[in-house]
Formats: sequence, C-alpha cells, structure tokens
Amino acid sequence: MKTDETMVNAFVPGRAKLSPEAEAMVARRTRLLGPAYRLFYETPVHFTRAEGCYLFDAEGKAYLDCYNNVASLGHAHPHVLAATAAQAATYASHTRYLNDVVLDCAEKLLSHFPPELSQAMFTCTGSEANDLALRIAFAATGGSGIVVTENAYHGVTYLAAGLSPSLGAGVDLGAHVRTVPAPRDTASFAADVAAAFADLSRHGIRPAALIVDTIFSSDGVIPGAFLAPAVKAAHAAGALFIADEVQPGFGRTGAQWWGFQAHGITPDIVTMGKPMGNGYPVAGLVARPEVLLPFGTKARYFNTFGGNATACATAIAVMEVIETEGLLAHATRIGAELAAGLRALALTHEALGELRQAGLFLGQDVVENGQPSAQKAARLVNLLREARVLISATGPKGHVLKIRPPLVLTSAQADQFLTATETALKAL
Ligand code: PMP
Repeated sequence: MKTDETMVNAFVPGRAKLSPEAEAMVARRTRLLGPAYRLFYETPVHFTRAEGCYLFDAEGKAYLDCYNNVASLGHAHPHVLAATAAQAATYASHTRYLNDVVLDCAEKLLSHFPPELSQAMFTCTGSEANDLALRIAFAATGGSGIVVTENAYHGVTYLAAGLSPSLGAGVDLGAHVRTVPAPRDTASFAADVAAAFADLSRHGIRPAALIVDTIFSSDGVIPGAFLAPAVKAAHAAGALFIADEVQPGFGRTGAQWWGFQAHGITPDIVTMGKPMGNGYPVAGLVARPEVLLPFGTKARYFNTFGGNATACATAIAVMEVIETEGLLAHATRIGAELAAGLRALALTHEALGELRQAGLFLGQDVVENGQPSAQKAARLVNLLREARVLISATGPKGHVLKIRPPLVLTSAQADQFLTATETALKAL
C-alpha cells in the first residue's frame, strides 16, 4: 500500500471498538465533512484544549505531544497569542495599503537568511507557498519541468498535489513531473536529478525546478549534507532549486533556522509555513530578487489573507520567541537526549532499526527480522497513543516512526516519551 502522512496511521472504521460517543462523532464527521478526511489512530482522540507540550481530551486527560510541528513553541504560547490579539484589535487588513507590520515581518524573516535571499512574499499555507514558488520558477526559466523525490509531499493545490507522489496512485502526477529516489548518497542523488532533467528535456519539457523538503520528511526523514551536487545538476539543466522548509524550517533541525543550511547551499527560493504562526495560518517564501523579477513583471500578486497585519504580527512574535527562548540550542540539546535514549532502547529491542535525527526531528526505523515493518510501526504508534503520547509513522514503506515534538519539550518530557516507548516496545 502506498502511504502518505495520514494513511500510515489512519483510523479504519469498524476495525476497533469505539465508545458510543466516539462512534457518534465519527458518524457526524462523515456526514458533515464527507469522505476525504482521515483521522489518526486505531482509536481516534478527541481534544478540547491544548497548552505547552500537552493536549487535553474531553475528560481532561493530558497527552504528550511528540508530533505537532505547527505549535512548535508549544500550544497556546502567551507571547504569540498576545501579539495576535493586539494586532487584530488594532489593524488587521491586507497588503494593498501601506502598513509597517508586513515590512517588519519581511525584514525580520529575511534577517535569518543568506543575503542573496532578500525578498519575501506571503501566503496562508505551505501549499500556496509552493504553488507560488513554482509559478515564479516557470516565469524565471520559461520551463515547466519539475523534479521531486519518490515519496515527496508538497501540498494540496492542483499544482502541489501533482508533484506529491506520497498522496498515492489516486492522485495523478503532472506530465511535467519526474521523480527521483530518496537520497541514499551524495553522488547517486545528483546523478538521478541530472538524469530526470535530461529525461524531461528529451520529452520536450524545459526544466523549471528541483524542489525538495530539506529533511525529506515523507521520504522517511533523511538529514545530512548531500544536496550541493544535486543543486548544481539542477542549475546545469537550467532549473531553479526550491527548498521546501515547511517541515524543517524555524529551528526544527536544531543547529540552524533552516534545513538547507546543513547542506551548505543557498536556494533560489525557500518556501515555509506550518510553525511560522504557531497555529495561526501564515506562510510564505523568500527568493533572490532576480528570480522574482520575471514573475513580478508579468503578473500581479494579491493574496487576500496572505501577509495581513495580524498574520505578520503573529509571525514576528514567533520569531521573537525562537530568538529569546534560545530554541535552536534547546532543540539541539533535547533532540540529542531523545536520540541517545532511542539508541539505548535499540540495544535491547530489535524492533528498533536505524535512527536518523536532526534537532527535534527524529525518524526511527521499525523492523522485523531486519526488514521494514509498517505493521509494527503502526502498532507502536497506537500503543503510545493508548499511553497518551502522540507520534506518527511515515516513509514510503510506512515503517518510520516520526517523532517531532514542540521545540520547547523539556528533559522530563523527553524522559516521559522514552519511558512510554520502552513500555510499548515490551508490549509489542
Ligand atoms: N510541504 C511540506 C514538506 C509539507 O509537509 C506540507 C504539509 N504537510 C506542505 C508543503 C503543505 O503545507 P500546508 O498543509 O500548510 O498547505
């Protein structure tokens, strides 16, 4: 079975016995929201409140959040909430009027990028940011050919879904899209990218962009420092390089603000979203001015809610918290604690295979007789859910535990996760 972010660990109606209340709520969702939504876990959870690293169910029971990278500063962060409320109460309109907040936000955002990336544009979602980035790349290159990884996810717009193979065979890839295997080593990835662009050209499709999630989240979490030759190959083919930082951005990988920095490269366009508003919908991109120019000359850009003053005040507050709370150093330290704990557990539990980790993004392979086991991974995810610890599973084979807690996770909470994981492994 092909997997995507929700499929791996999706609730299957009828498989587990639910309480009458849960049964009624699932039926109400299906009636009101239709057939396309998926719920997490064998037994779905019903949350009514969240604060810091905990979510609380309808009975007030606390669940440790080791999954959500949207509330990256912790749920309901007071500094961010205060900034959102203050701006909403003052001035909340769009980018067609002069206003300082969008400029202050752009300035602060750009201060965290290499100087070549000196212009910012705002959207509401990561999908919109990727969609816009691709339109910019089409205008800049005159091409439309796109290369992505085999199990990539880049979003929900028609264009972004068409380059998201992880959505499965039910969602067609564009005719202008080629996939390459997830990176195994530096040289083969670059060679695969070069071959994919050559194939596009051979079919009369001019190259436009290589786009990758720089932590390769849906490909199974692959941190490293291997992208430079692949970016060179994209440029040699006349394509741009777009770094999708929706997952790794804003300090997730610990050492740096952005995933691409570990690779020693400067992208042509960087897209971002998810943690940018700690729950408020704000997203966007930064780019080299010469890359934006052809698009901006031909097309006008207005996004009703993208870049509105409330969104921008919220994003400024998020960046302030990352800076003042020292969250990059904190994520590095707690990420190392989690990794050390998982490696220690792997010594006595053969279900734990390779661990890949950067800051507070961890991908833990689950294996049976040394082979990937999606079934065991799903079992572990559900055992942890019963222990009120939230993670998920990812990767093309669905066997990679995706552990991605808020950046503010404490040492005690890391211990809580490791203790629950040990108990789940014993019960496996
Ligand atoms: N790119 C990546 C790498 C993502 O993980 C996601 C969301 N899971 C998106 C883009 C799309 O972001 P959004 O859901 O905000 O549209």
